[in-house]
Amino acid sequence: MKIFCIGRNYAEHALELNNPIPDEPVVFMKPPGALLVNDKPFYHPSFTSEIHYEVELVIRICKNGKHIQPEFAARYYDKVAVGIDLTARDLQSKLKSKGLPWELAKAFDHSAPISKFVPISKLKGKMDFSLEKNGEIVQKGNPESMIHSFEDLIVFLSKYFTLQMNDMIFTGTPAGVGKLEVGDQFRAFLNDRPMLNCEIR
Ligand code: ZN
Repeated sequence: MKIFCIGRNYAEHALELNNPIPDEPVVFMKPPGALLVNDKPFYHPSFTSEIHYEVELVIRICKNGKHIQPEFAARYYDKVAVGIDLTARDLQSKLKSKGLPWELAKAFDHSAPISKFVPISKLKGKMDFSLEKNGEIVQKGNPESMIHSFEDLIVFLSKYFTLQMNDMIFTGTPAGVGKLEVGDQFRAFLNDRPMLNCEIR
């Protein structure tokens, strides 16, 4: 199972971190051990003092495919979840400044709390998602504001990688990312339905 992640897929988020808006998707990956499921708490690791939350829609691949053509891309995903791409921003800035890969900042254990997946067919075309920190909404978005749509991402990724059933794609975060602290309580919503709880310990 592969976990793809897309960086800078919402213009306002790219700008808040002073990054250019990319014309091709920015792609990185997390290993399966990054997933944190069943609303388990996240234990703050000691190698970083600045972890940012990034709430994202995560789509699940339902069919194997390579070189997927745009007109068929919609058939390759069927479910969506809400996930948080936890990012050690201090470490990432250091790595970026040296032109080094981001794995240490992005792919560490439990850096991807994720909800259960729900069938997209049940959502009536609506996928508004949001993140609440200690009872206050800090991020919200929906797929219409993405630079690269779900279909674009599938077409692009499948040029390089065979997409396989149960692979997932974290599709990028909207504006409003910020630092988390021990004791914070996060709740993520999809169409106002609570999907994910995560306590920082
Ligand atoms: Zn992200």
